[in-house]
Amino acid sequence: MAATAAEKKLLIAGEWVETGQWVEVRSPYSGDLVGRVARAGAAETRHAVDAAEDAMREPLPAHKRAEILVRVAGQLGRRHEEVARTIAAEAGKPLKAARVEAARAMSTFTFAAVEARKLAGEMVPMDASQAGAGKLAFTVRQPLGGVGAISPFNFPLNLVAHKIAPSLAAGCAIVLKPASQTPFSALLLAELMTEAELPSGWVNVVVGPASEIGDVLVEDERVRAITFTGSGDVGWKLAERAPRKRVKLELGNATPVIVEPDADLEDVATRLAANAFSFAGQSCISVQRVYVHRHAYEEFVSRFVPKAEALVVGDPLDAQTDVGPLIDTGARDRVLEWIEEARAAGAEILTGGELEGELIRPTVIAKAAPDLRVSSEEVFGPVCTVTAYETLDEAIELANGTRYGLQAGIFTRDIKKAFAAAKQLEFGGVTVNEAPTFRADQMPYGGVKDSGNTREGPAYAVRELTEERLVVLEL
Ligand code: NAP
Repeated sequence: MAATAAEKKLLIAGEWVETGQWVEVRSPYSGDLVGRVARAGAAETRHAVDAAEDAMREPLPAHKRAEILVRVAGQLGRRHEEVARTIAAEAGKPLKAARVEAARAMSTFTFAAVEARKLAGEMVPMDASQAGAGKLAFTVRQPLGGVGAISPFNFPLNLVAHKIAPSLAAGCAIVLKPASQTPFSALLLAELMTEAELPSGWVNVVVGPASEIGDVLVEDERVRAITFTGSGDVGWKLAERAPRKRVKLELGNATPVIVEPDADLEDVATRLAANAFSFAGQSCISVQRVYVHRHAYEEFVSRFVPKAEALVVGDPLDAQTDVGPLIDTGARDRVLEWIEEARAAGAEILTGGELEGELIRPTVIAKAAPDLRVSSEEVFGPVCTVTAYETLDEAIELANGTRYGLQAGIFTRDIKKAFAAAKQLEFGGVTVNEAPTFRADQMPYGGVKDSGNTREGPAYAVRELTEERLVVLEL
């Protein structure tokens, strides 16, 4: 068993709870037992919703909420290495990337603390109409109510932070269900919250069968919002099943990048190699489709492929590793199948496409038709296609040619082209001269089309988790 995480209980109503049943967590790299967590079911989830309701009966003032959030940010800094190793052990995320995630969670909590302190409504200009003359009106932002949160395996700490921290900033109590494969980072964060003197019931963590816990969150009317990050199939079904709740979805992408011939190809190749394959492509904004102007295509490929080959594939707990395992063998077999489908259809595997030990090597595919799954669906593996184009319009059309719309990027020195792309790319975010894998935690982050219906980033999430109450005064 790893030293960082052994046996954890659930956090419900401020108590660490055992249930007599356990969820085992194994390293995606070695298969060794990382630890086990008490298994929650419907009863524990209902109990957690009760606790959230009770907690909100005694609202915490904004300054207290902000102080707690700041304390947690501090603790994340002090326990940085432990936090990073917990992420690496359970998610198989290379330590390099796990350290970045641990640092980003500090930033998420820090920004949430700022939002708690500035949560305010607005004045309504009442004398702007005859009806309003002689009255004063303003809005206050009220917490929406209990929040149900469901998070994925791939950022087991920072995406949990993006649920918990804005909920508290908004004054909402939360019931969190982390991914069953990666509950330890979430429980460590919950521990830091209790150490920061968060009163009981404000954060509850239940780990267990997704549908059983999900059903309670969908059906219980006291859960006013569900905030979900994960796959589209699950997310959109939750939204359909809970039409009267706010169901906020952060889903997948098949991330495209356009490379114009005036770009600095060495710089682009370096950035894209790191952002296509780091954490084996298991980020929702991993670079997956690179469209390069035909005048730059050969040179780009000759720079990009060696950089992909130079990445270190191996043990995520080794500080040198860039590319580790996929989360489980099912995911690995699926990605290999998609690569084989592309090969069989005449695509050219420029590098990778095979295992190194048990791990998939970074794989670059040329001549992949747009309807292949590596081109049109989210691979969520260390696979990237490269395609030549003639005109920027054609590149934009190709980039827009999937059902996803989370982030996209363009590399060019031509400001007009950059703006044209930013306008025409149908995505929640467009990066210029930066890989679209880039995210700073205060950004409004989220997708259009099948990629979701919300924006995260503490300022935006707090807006989603509060509602405006109008107050009108007769003067
Ligand atoms: P997933 O299979 O959809 O799981 C996400 C969460 O949903 C897990 O906690 C899972 O629980 C839970 N879940 C599964 N079935 C459920 C159900 N019927 N009811 C309620 N909850 C249910 O996704 P994943 O494989 O962990 O994550 C990868 C996906 O997340 C990718 O598509 C990626 O692009 C997306 N993602 C999006 C963003 C973003 O911000 N847009 C960020 C990161 C990841 P169990 O673990 O217990 O099954």
